[in-house]
Amino acid sequence: MAAYLDNAATTPMRPEAVEAMLPFLGERFGNPSGAHALAREARKALDEAREMVAGCLGAEPGEVVFTGGGTEADNLAVTGAHSARPGGVVYTAVEHHAVLHAAAALGGTVAPVRADGVVDLDRLAGLLAPGITVVSVMLANNEVGTIQPLDRVAALVRDRAPGAVLHTDAVQAFQWLDVATAAAGCDLVAVSGHKFGGPKGVGALVVRAGVALRPIIHGGGQERDRRSGTHNVGGIVAMAAAMRATVAERAEVGRRVGALRDRLADGLLAAVPDSAETGDRRLKIAGNCHLSFAGVEAESLLMLLDAAGVYASAGSACASGAVDPSHVLTAMGMSRLQAAGSLRLSLGRTTSEADVELALATIPPAVARLRAL
Ligand code: PLP
Repeated sequence: MAAYLDNAATTPMRPEAVEAMLPFLGERFGNPSGAHALAREARKALDEAREMVAGCLGAEPGEVVFTGGGTEADNLAVTGAHSARPGGVVYTAVEHHAVLHAAAALGGTVAPVRADGVVDLDRLAGLLAPGITVVSVMLANNEVGTIQPLDRVAALVRDRAPGAVLHTDAVQAFQWLDVATAAAGCDLVAVSGHKFGGPKGVGALVVRAGVALRPIIHGGGQERDRRSGTHNVGGIVAMAAAMRATVAERAEVGRRVGALRDRLADGLLAAVPDSAETGDRRLKIAGNCHLSFAGVEAESLLMLLDAAGVYASAGSACASGAVDPSHVLTAMGMSRLQAAGSLRLSLGRTTSEADVELALATIPPAVARLRAL
């Protein structure tokens, strides 16, 4: 028995998405840029997927640019918008590295967040000025799950930096929130298939009509010259199928998983002394449970959990393997020590009561064992 509690890292593919994808890995292999019947068949599938994705994101089909995932969508948004209209870049301290590193490379300015992870609107307002051309504020955070008040951010941007485009990274949000509504005031919106039951390596960027964007990948001029490269037809079709299914079930899944998350978080907080929840649960997506345990190293805890079949993530991991405090937790004012003992349990559509029970039975004794060492 195993409990997969790492849905913020990736999700299992939805059966609808697998089924939609399979023909394009077989007999329907045409290149949608071609002219013959097999190519036209692929083009038709691509067009239908584009309509579906656009509908799910509150956009027009012509505003959807398919990409090779969320990282590329974020890079295209930040770098492409800046390249079209050079100027100042402002981004929050808790952005995913895909935005963080792209914006930092352009010499951008960081907008701080409060202790609950929500962007400090007063400080953000102070950074916005007519010379700013790109602002990036994510919708939901990948580590701590905090949802940003995009409506208020958009109002500030329109008021103080009227020439700027507002980008939102909605990669972690789509499974839980009505992105079409939440991001209605944004010019650019990034999503990624594998975070909501679609395949890895496929994503999309909504580029609202009239928003200037220079491509970052040059070639055959696909996606109306905004993103060259032969389309990943099967991946795109599968992502569209996953989107449709996600939207249809989103409210119900959110309620069910939110209740499981509450049981997990409350159970662990009650069972483990000196434990704390990160952020304010009322401001988080339903799947996020982020806790810290004093005097414990998350890396050691994860090894014990892995051996017991509980798959989670350190709240503060670094790709290189070195345990660096996460920029998100640091920005929220968490100490290095507390950050090092934090654990991200991310629930998803397939999370069951049994998963939560296994985590509740496994984590408290594992923490106690590490503390006793
Ligand atoms: N943005 C956020 C908030 C994410 O959580 C992730 C993935 O973890 C990405 C962007 C990158 O997406 P992808 O894995 O599709 O490149």
